[in-house]
Parts: sequence; C-alpha cells; structure tokens
Amino acid sequence: MVSAMPDATPCPRCGASSEYLLTPHDRAGGLPTAIRLCLSGVCGVGFTEPPPDDTAAAPALAPGLEVEDRLAARMVGSGMNHLVQGLPRGALVVDVGAGSGLRARVLAERGMRVIAVEPDPVEEVRAHAMMASLPAGAVEVVRAGTGGLADVMGGREADAAVMWHVLEHLPDMDAGLAAVRDILRPGGRLSVAVPNRGSAEARAFGARWHGWEPSRHRWHLDAQSLRIVLGAAGLGVRDIDTRGGWGYPAGIAYSMAPGADPQVNPRRGLLGRALAAAMVPVAATARAMGHGGQLVALAVRP
Ligand SMILES: [Zn+2]
Repeated sequence: MVSAMPDATPCPRCGASSEYLLTPHDRAGGLPTAIRLCLSGVCGVGFTEPPPDDTAAAPALAPGLEVEDRLAARMVGSGMNHLVQGLPRGALVVDVGAGSGLRARVLAERGMRVIAVEPDPVEEVRAHAMMASLPAGAVEVVRAGTGGLADVMGGREADAAVMWHVLEHLPDMDAGLAAVRDILRPGGRLSVAVPNRGSAEARAFGARWHGWEPSRHRWHLDAQSLRIVLGAAGLGVRDIDTRGGWGYPAGIAYSMAPGADPQVNPRRGLLGRALAAAMVPVAATARAMGHGGQLVALAVRP
C-alpha cells in the first residue's frame, strides 16, 4: 500500500505547480528516504526537494590514476571540439566551475588563453597543480563562484565560456547563467553540459540512475528544459546534443553498483573505476544511438 505523499512543492524557478518525477516510493535503493524529485508543470525543469546545501557542489573525487588521467584528457578534449572550432589561437576562454583544472589545461594546450574559475578551495589547489606542465601564466586559476565573475574579468570580455556539470548544482541557475552571459562578448560562445534526465539510461535505471545525485544536484534537465533555461538567459541555442563523455560510462557503472562510486565510498574507488572502464563500450554504443546520458549544448550571446 502506498501512503499519501504531500503535494509537490511549487517550482523554485518559475513558481508553477509541480508534480513528482520520482519519490521514495519509486526507489529501488536509489533515492534516500525523504528526498523527492519534482517536475515543474510550466518550465519543465526538474528539481530536488528538499534542495541540497550550498557546499554540495564540491566534488569528493580523489585525483585519478595516471593512465585514467590521460584517457580523461582525451575525452575532455573531444568534448571541447565544438567550442574550440572556429576560435582563433589566443581566444579568451573562461571555464566556470573548472574543478580539477583538467579541461582548462586541455584548452590551453590547444592554444586558448584560459581563466579557470572554481569556487571550491580544495579543487582550486588541485587546479593550480594541474598547470605545472604549462608555461607560467598560461592558465589563470581563480577561486570564485558565478557571483564573482565580473570582478574576475575586470572589464575583459570572453570569447567563450564553459559550464560543464555546473548548472545542476547552482542554487540560482538562471542568475548563474546570466552572470556567464554577461562576461561573453557579443557572438561569444558558451558550452554547457548537464546530466540528461531524458536519456535512455535515466529511464532504464529509474530512481537508481546515478545522474540524479540528489545529495548534490538541485536541478534535473532534459533537452527541452535546457533549451528553455538557455533561452531565458538571453542566449541563442545553436545545438543540443545527447552525448556521452568521461562521466558517462561511470554513470552507468555507478547506477548498477552505487557502492562502488568513489564519491560515495572512496575506499572502493579502484573497483568503481574498473567498472566504469568496463562500461566504455556500452556507453559508446548508447552514444552512437543518440541516447547519451549527458546533454551538451552550444549557445551564443547575440
Ligand atoms: Zn519552473
């Protein structure tokens, strides 16, 4: 018997009434009790209720193995192709939520001038270390959130910006996007990646899907709602692609075996990584079929 659930909370983004996307009743070991995922009836954005706290964006993942880092660098690099194509050498790219700094380093190696902006102090230290192999000053690493971007830029305009796996963490996704839009020059490009709530993987795993990460993710987007959110920030959407990416094989692996996720259980990190590596062919197949677990968008400031 299913006990009565309270009415779903109105959408914190647009105020519309919402319905449940997933409740603890749907869980097969996935969602913690008392956490519900809701879906706005108007803007189509999914949200976690109650929302995770502000520190939940900080990744707990320890630095990877060397061979894994090399593979990750290749995958990160291919993920940036759509952004880098058409940008001249020396173009100024701002990586918002730069994390470990790997992506910023890869962009610098491809001839970009890069500002890596990261709010988490632990990640900021890792990002500085990541730049050791580059000429001094090739990447400017700055500790700041989206609210501090104007100060970081100091009047400079970015040719491009990157927000990979950032939007789903932000308390105010719309304000964060607007702040990034404002540092772009007219015609400047923005690359955005988020977990794909509409993926075959999310449907197959239901409440167990790793991409929900309700303890860390406030927002849950599909292609349509991502398009709405980017448009609401005054950005022109050039393309939204359902891709895989480095996190995607891992997403399948940790949906199958949540205890092996190094972010959940660091001592089982090696097992988790091996499982993730084993899922690469599965992820590649799903990606080829257009069902990737990650949405990658290219938007432009008019
Ligand atoms: Zn809404």
